[in-house]
This record gives sequence, C-alpha cells and structure tokens, in this order.
Amino acid sequence: MKKASSLSELGFDAGDASSGFFRPVAGDGGATPTSASHRRRLTKVSVIGAGNVGMAIAQTILTRDLADEIALVDALPDKLRGEMLDLQHAAAFLPRTRLVSDTDLAVTRGSDLAIVTAGARQIPGESRLNLLQRNVALLRKIVPAVAEHSPEALLLIVANPVDVLTYVAWKLSGFPASRVIGSGTNLDSSRFRFLLAEHLDVNAQDVQAYMVGEHGDSSVAVWSSVSVAGMPVLKSLQASHRCFDEEALEGIRRSVVDSAYEVISLKGYTSWAIGYSVASLAASLLRDQRRIYPVSVLARGFHGIPPENDVFLSLPARLGRSGVLGVAEMELTEEEGKRLRRSAKTLWENCQQLGL
Ligand code: NAD
Repeated sequence: MKKASSLSELGFDAGDASSGFFRPVAGDGGATPTSASHRRRLTKVSVIGAGNVGMAIAQTILTRDLADEIALVDALPDKLRGEMLDLQHAAAFLPRTRLVSDTDLAVTRGSDLAIVTAGARQIPGESRLNLLQRNVALLRKIVPAVAEHSPEALLLIVANPVDVLTYVAWKLSGFPASRVIGSGTNLDSSRFRFLLAEHLDVNAQDVQAYMVGEHGDSSVAVWSSVSVAGMPVLKSLQASHRCFDEEALEGIRRSVVDSAYEVISLKGYTSWAIGYSVASLAASLLRDQRRIYPVSVLARGFHGIPPENDVFLSLPARLGRSGVLGVAEMELTEEEGKRLRRSAKTLWENCQQLGL
C-alpha cells in the first residue's frame, strides 16, 4: 500500500508551488511574509506516547490553538502514523498547526513543552512497584533524549505513578525543579469540583477546591479551603446538613479517588478529562497565564515535609512560561497537614527504592 500524506510523497515537487499563486507586492524587494526576519518564534509541543491519553492531550492542545507545531512520538510506527494522519485530516476545521511524528525522539527537537504519557499500564496481578520499575526503565530511554534535544523545554509528566515518575524525570533530565512538573492532582481536583458543583448546582469553574498530595490513594481533600463565591463551603454544608461529618467527607474523597477506577472499569482507560486538564496546564505554561493549579512539584520544605526529602507531590502552584513560578503556602488544618506528610512519606519511600 502506498503510504503518502502529502503531494510531495506522491512525487509532486513542492518546490516553489505557491509562487504560481502569489507574487510579492511592488517594492517588497522579494521578501515574503514568512521570511526569516519576520517570522515570530513558533511554539512547539511534543507529546511522547500517542496512546489514549497522549492523543486526547494532543487533540485538545490542537483545538485550543496552543502550539504552532505538535510532534507526536510513539514506539508503534503504524499506530503513530495513523493517529497523525487522522488529526491532519481535520486541518480544514482547525487552527493551522504543523503535525509531525516519528518513533525517533529527535523529532521533538526544539520543543517548548514536552509532555510524557508513554507508560506501561498495570497488568493483572502486577504490583505498583513492579509497574514503577517498568516505567522508570521507559523514562531512562525517553527523558535524557528529550532533554538533549530540547534543553530549554518544560517537562510535563503524565504517565503513572505520576509523582514518582516526575521525581525520576527531574533526576534524569538534570533540569531545575521549576521546569519539571507532574500533572498530579489537577485531574483529581477537577473531579472533586465536579462533585461539589453538582451538589450545589453551580458551575464547577466557580468551585475553588483542591486535592493535594499523591495523585492516587493517599491524596488529601483540603476541605478547610473549599469555597464558592468566597464563602467557605464546609461550614455552610455542616450547618445545613448534619451528615457532613468526618466519615462523610472521607466518603466523598474516596469517591473522587475511585472515579478513575470506575471510568477504567467501564471504558478501559481515561482520556477526555486528562486531555482537558493537561491542555489547561499547557495554556498557563506556554502563554504565561500564571494560573494556579494543583500539580506535582518538588515539595521539600513545604508543610513540614523534611528538607532532605526530594519528594514530588501536588500543591497549588503558579504556572507561567518559565514553569513553576511559586507554590501557594495554603493553610492546612492539623489533620490535613498530617495526611499530606503521610502521603509524602509513602512517595519518598518509593523514590528511595529506585536508587537514582
Ligand atoms: P496507552 O497504553 O493507551 O498509551 C501508552 C502509549 O505509550 C502506547 O501507545 C505505547 O505504544 C507508547 N509507548 C510505550 N513505550 C514507548 C516508548 N519507549 N516511546 C514512546 N512511546 C511509547 O496508555 P494511556 O491510557 O494513554 O495511559 C498512558 C499513561 O498515562 C499511563 O501510565 C496512565 O496510567 C497515565 N495516566 C495518567 C493520568 C494522570 O492524571 N496523571 C490520567 C490518565 C492516565
């Protein structure tokens, strides 16, 4: 089967095809509107791992017009090419974005943002630690090459277990911690806000609520800071419904954590919500929007986490063009702080076992 995605691949010389259609205006001295001196700096995003999650992210970044070029990388060449062609065929309906793909990480050269979703998923009966070892082996191939091709890039890790892998990416890249970010509990927080918004019948964007700590079982719901329209939600819920006791709050946190497992058991994987969640992070980073998102950052020294523990976990962070611009020193109750430190301890134990 002839594989061709452009006329030049079919044997037509692209050469100077556009000169048959366009001429410079008089007195332009031959300069074209795209001449090097006029061209602005283009934004390039790479997505490594073109699976369910990687493609949902690429598609959302494309629709939101966040990049001039998107490079897709995957280990499976046919699937990769199929995904790229499928997106290219939507060009007539989308902002103009150059799409390239390759199994070779050199295609990511010059990225402003590199998003890593390549990762093995747990196989039945496999421990998380074993999965972790397999994904660390994968990152050993990916991260140093990405760092070499794009030494100024921001690295955004999405593959799981995301907090430990963000630590691994930080170690392997040699990048400053401000340029290595994990998607962390941004998605968990969005699920939390959705549940609360449904209950209060308001728009989820107007619910300020954070899950912090591990993206996973030990995440901490920061009930003490949940607010809507500047009003503390927990206080009013407890005043109006007596059932909002500790047990009920833990039940809600648990259902946020379990909602990922529910989606996976129903459709096999999660994709749309993580796609939107990561595209929002990309927007704040690439456009220097300085929005605050709960993402996995180097958390040593925050909330009593020992300064010698290089653990990555989620805290609300201000994101801009140079990465993590700062971490909000949010107020936690004693219990929330205790849970966060417990989450940090478990994650740090995992990191230490890797011997990096
Ligand atoms: P998937 O199996 O659909 O995709 C993974 C892709 O990675 C595959 O296409 C595979 O060919 C590719 N790959 C494997 N080795 C590679 C290599 N060396 N180089 C390039 N590509 C390689 O899985 P998915 O559903 O897309 O999930 C991807 C990861 O994202 C998983 O680790 C999953 O747990 C994680 N995830 C994280 C979050 C979060 O909130 N952080 C949410 C959902 C999923």
